Amino acid sequence: MPDERAPEPLVVRDLTRWIGRYAELIERDVDRLTELDAAIGDGDHGVNMQRGAAAIRRQLGALRQVGSCGRFCHLVGHVFLTDVGGAAGVLYGTFFQATGESVGDQQCADGSHFAAAIGWGLTALMRRGKADTGDKTMVDAMAPAVARLATEIDAGAPIAQAATAAYEAAAAGSRHATSLVARRGRASYLGPRAAGHEDPGAASTVLLFEALRAIDVPSSDVVDTESRVGILLVSRSEAVAIGTAEVAGGMAPSVRIVPLRLDGPWDACGQALLRAAVREADEGAGVVAFVDAVGAQDWIGEADPPVTQVRVSMGPFVEGAVMAAVLAEAGKSLSAVVAGSERAVMLEKQAFESGW
Ligand code: ADP
Ligand code: MG
Repeated sequence: MPDERAPEPLVVRDLTRWIGRYAELIERDVDRLTELDAAIGDGDHGVNMQRGAAAIRRQLGALRQVGSCGRFCHLVGHVFLTDVGGAAGVLYGTFFQATGESVGDQQCADGSHFAAAIGWGLTALMRRGKADTGDKTMVDAMAPAVARLATEIDAGAPIAQAATAAYEAAAAGSRHATSLVARRGRASYLGPRAAGHEDPGAASTVLLFEALRAIDVPSSDVVDTESRVGILLVSRSEAVAIGTAEVAGGMAPSVRIVPLRLDGPWDACGQALLRAAVREADEGAGVVAFVDAVGAQDWIGEADPPVTQVRVSMGPFVEGAVMAAVLAEAGKSLSAVVAGSERAVMLEKQAFESGW
């Protein structure tokens, strides 16, 4: 039966998967990007992009916690501007920053809004590089990919399907540009000798859209039999959620602990945020949630379709989370973790009285 539901909006955790995958693909293809640039440029595109990929990977944990999709894209742009160098660093930096400005300061973005925002990013990139399609640059891969993404999403395709179509369009665009003579960038100095060589920037742009397919792969797809219970900390305050995750994480280095700011309204965006956070926390053994936002317990129960792998603990937010972390680290089951966390204050008091 076809899924009649509107596709879920994208959240920062989805964008983090996209950009994290992009960094992986760049690292996979560094040598190829270098070889392409050695043929028609100065041979630094692979190394330039690898510096950006390494910086992204170092910052991935922090990027995942960024409060809005716009700020996330802006920060990624900043990495390209500061760490990548070369023409590509400036152009990708401009692309991501303009995308961020267009997507805006929200926790969620609808697919069509996201597609329009990266369209705006492309426009800014083209202005910056004074490049058009047919100039044999990254624009030749990006322009058809962006157009295809928007068409697919407007036709109701889920983001993963639209991303696959966009990736194919990027690859076709890059293949087409291979036969062209360059009119922008270093390759333009070569005149007709550039024809027949793939453009390195177009090749890295194909990877950007290949990576976009990762946006829809929930991390809980891989079920590990040794998996531990995950912990979800839902607060109206980002500082409380993140601070508690740090305290609990200190007790439980192997447990997935996911902070989530949720300050309503309980709409499609709130549900998308919750689902993305649960997917991230769940290794296959289920998730215990602590909630300090009034009403959010009920929201979790009312999610449609239901989020079945979560149980809300009635234990205290901070002490309960710490107790849950210790129990999850020890490999206890979901019901044992929930029960233990609900008795957290009492257990701590007993331990204290008996000279713990
Ligand atoms: P550099 O050319 O400074 O050595 P890179 O090697 O990192 O920088 O990137 C080269 C790629 O950048 C090219 O393959 C091309 O796709 C892209 N590029 C260069 N100049 C422009 C431009 N003016 N507009 C669009 N893309 C450009
Ligand atoms: Mg170069």
